Amino acid sequence: MTVTIPKGVLTAVTGVAGSGKSSLVCHEFVRRNPNAIVIDQKAIGTSIRSTPATYTGVMDEIRKLFGKENGVTASWFSYNSKGGCTVCKGTGQITYDMAFAEPVVVPCEECGGHRYNPTALSYTYKGMNIEEVLSLTIEQAMDFFDSKKIRSALQSMIDVGLGYLTLGQPTSTLSGGEVQRVKLASELHKQGEVYVLDEPSTGLHGKDIEKLLALLRKLVQNGNTVIIVEHRLELIAQADYIIDMGPEGGSNGGQVMFCGTPEELLKCERSKTAEYLKKAMAL
Ligand SMILES: [Zn+2]
Repeated sequence: MTVTIPKGVLTAVTGVAGSGKSSLVCHEFVRRNPNAIVIDQKAIGTSIRSTPATYTGVMDEIRKLFGKENGVTASWFSYNSKGGCTVCKGTGQITYDMAFAEPVVVPCEECGGHRYNPTALSYTYKGMNIEEVLSLTIEQAMDFFDSKKIRSALQSMIDVGLGYLTLGQPTSTLSGGEVQRVKLASELHKQGEVYVLDEPSTGLHGKDIEKLLALLRKLVQNGNTVIIVEHRLELIAQADYIIDMGPEGGSNGGQVMFCGTPEELLKCERSKTAEYLKKAMAL
């Protein structure tokens, strides 16, 4: 089969489960277009050491500010380095390997899970120690820091609706939807790219779907091409272009049932998605 995906718009690839929409986009299209950027909900680094501060790069700046203020080396403000608790090596937790069971993880007694050693915590910047600063939310940190570099990196997280995260929250604790938005945060200033998202609405509810849609719209406005594989009607209805696969799943799938705008889809008699969309719009 041959299908044309328009550039510079938001395309939704739809169809019942097993109709081949994922194979078409996530496998075949991505294979033929290796420059396409796939944004998924998979964790950004499962390490407890990865946080919004490290991911956005502001951690380096914060360490420098603390070092300068206190006249000591910046490595005191890294829990992976001089600043770390010596017992847990800055992870804030101790893992006991069990011979025949899953390892047991408990908070470190030495630092109480705070990760830093007492010397590191004795230094302050504008009245706060490093741990207190890392417990600020991104929004609070915007008010706290004057540094342009820090503020512009944090602004991108606020733009994707994640201003409520704290600087030091391990990214391994974020939900799939949050991870997706963290990844989108670093893409919002780009143009001329092709983005692929497989079921980006998975696990999202009302307001979060609206936020996601606004971000996808922004990518398109910036001159990018966005392709989503999606079954949620509220997203499909907002796409510029729809490619509907079918007619059924499995061996009865794999055909393109429809290509066109959402309005045109409503007139398509043989598309299951059209049927669902008509029902949803009648409600
Ligand atoms: Zn410790």
